[in-house]
Amino acid sequence: MPRLWRGNETRTAAAPPQQLCQLPCLRACGTTVTRTGAAAHEAECPLLAVKCAAADFGCDWSGRRHQQAAHTAACGLRGVLPALRKMAERIDEQSQRIATLEAQLAEHTKPSVWHHLRDAFCVANGVTLRNGWNPAKSDFWFTKDRHGFVHLDGIIRGGNADSDHAVLTLPEGYHPRDSILFNGGQAFGEVLIDPLGDIYVQATGAKDDGISFGGVSFSTR
Ligand SMILES: [Zn+2]
Ligand SMILES: [Zn+2]
Repeated sequence: MPRLWRGNETRTAAAPPQQLCQLPCLRACGTTVTRTGAAAHEAECPLLAVKCAAADFGCDWSGRRHQQAAHTAACGLRGVLPALRKMAERIDEQSQRIATLEAQLAEHTKPSVWHHLRDAFCVANGVTLRNGWNPAKSDFWFTKDRHGFVHLDGIIRGGNADSDHAVLTLPEGYHPRDSILFNGGQAFGEVLIDPLGDIYVQATGAKDDGISFGGVSFSTR
């Protein structure tokens, strides 16, 4: 049964110091190393297999570390190695720049996504028609292009046309800088889009005539 250690007891037997095992280097370079010192010895073992410092640039010499200095002195690429390294650095930098530009280009050329509301229950990009409004004839659509312009399209009808009942609320990032007012169809009245993205209709005609959003575009910047 295990004994519970209590705070007022004193320990009598200290654990003996851990014995560090000495082993000869596996490459038989003549050095003995401890298990924890083996990694440090890697950095200096004269028998470690190494390649030429210019291996990446075409020198295929390989040998032991103690032979490396002699090879370096005789290596045909020795004179041009600093220039080659500089060029390789520049190529790395330019590759990174190209990757960044390619990512920006992909972002810039990706097609706009049109969000469709097909009926009063449909939710697209968090947006739904409210207060009795329904798409008429075709869907209500909205999108934002890569220049930061929001485009609306479609015809809606049948809902509450007053300043207390929003038709819908556009998502974050799709709001105009200032309120915009447009004619929502000659028979019907005016449409207001406020900086919070709420769209309101001011009725002047019969609401079943429908409100057209075709051609409505505005900047979000
Ligand atoms: Zn060694
Ligand atoms: Zn070489």
